[in-house]
Amino acid sequence: MLTHRQLFLANNAQTTNFPLLLEFERAEGVYLYDTAGKAHIDLISGIGVSNTGHSHPRVTQAVKDQVDKYMHLMVYGEYVQTPQVKLAEKLVGLLPDPLSSVYFVNSGAEAVEGAMKLAKRYTGRSKILACHNSYHGSTQGALSLMGSEEFKQAYRPLLPNTGFIRFNDPSDLDKITEETAAIFIETVQGEAGIRVADVEYMQALSQRCKATGTLLVLDEIQAAMGRTGRLFAFEHYGIVPDILLLAKALGGGMPLGAFIASTEVMGALKENPILGHITTFGGHPVCCAAGLAALEVILDEGLIDSVAAKEALFRELLVHPAIKEVRGKGLMLAAEFESFEVNKRIIDRCITNGVITDWFLHCSNSMRIAPPLIITEEQIREACRVILQAIEAELS
Ligand code: PLP
Repeated sequence: MLTHRQLFLANNAQTTNFPLLLEFERAEGVYLYDTAGKAHIDLISGIGVSNTGHSHPRVTQAVKDQVDKYMHLMVYGEYVQTPQVKLAEKLVGLLPDPLSSVYFVNSGAEAVEGAMKLAKRYTGRSKILACHNSYHGSTQGALSLMGSEEFKQAYRPLLPNTGFIRFNDPSDLDKITEETAAIFIETVQGEAGIRVADVEYMQALSQRCKATGTLLVLDEIQAAMGRTGRLFAFEHYGIVPDILLLAKALGGGMPLGAFIASTEVMGALKENPILGHITTFGGHPVCCAAGLAALEVILDEGLIDSVAAKEALFRELLVHPAIKEVRGKGLMLAAEFESFEVNKRIIDRCITNGVITDWFLHCSNSMRIAPPLIITEEQIREACRVILQAIEAELS
């Protein structure tokens, strides 16, 4: 009989020739348990998803309760579905004006697609800008905004009328003009290796958008839901986006994305023609129920309050001549090594020793540190001990 691993390699589509091939039986809190029962610390949260920890009892209960009531009833936007209504109400209550209209979708990439269409419809312009080294998703529209030629050249032609500016470089802001429909920018760049913009830059960007009538679209698919120490990362900057993109941790472990705008901007999708964006499963009731429970856990359990102290502890512990820099904000961190080869060797040894981490799409010399927000001081100490031990073992 074939093992699961053999079946996975035989029948499940592969995204690389070197998948991690780890197999877990269950997950709880910050731990993933393999088939031998060994616990592994999840230092990456399934790439920015499991902010409340795995299998949080309030989230799993919300899923069970909703499954017992109803699952799919109708395509998005027709029926009044309580889980969608409650989650949108909660989000809008936590967001500044004028962000009051939430369009739920299935994923981050779909939130990007919806927002691109919305920006074009609302402004009547077609030019969309993004940043070098950005990652906004893998569908063709989102891929058109990817700030790396390496990953897109094989798929051209992509969307016309796209362009790029340098992240956090004020001298590029004049590329945003009266012809630009929108600039898509990650509030904290994720796959670039965790790059945090300066406050002055973000404020100047916001000003430039206002001056040119360009929509500021903040992609917080990776950075929101408390990860940077604020519920939404833009709260660090004293700015408000025209469109906010959420996904990943929004669904509390279930697939859910959203693009959020003012009622006026969002209204552009309703008419001439109607049905400007439609989705069968977007805002699935079970996903919205999970998302609401996860959001309530983040708020009720004060998960955001301890993020800055946990960041400080990682920074205090991750000191070693081989670590060139620890970058980032809150629990969205990157530890930089000399090269990909060094980083990869350390990551592999960490994984063998029970700490799961990886590197970034556009930054292969840096290690991702983005654990569930519930990680304790003791677990941080243990994870850092394993990382430092791995460095010593590999480099001495
Ligand atoms: N935007 C950012 C900043 C992301 O990090 C990602 C995924 O990693 C996406 C968009 C795409 O999200 P999804 O994988 O849900 O399509």
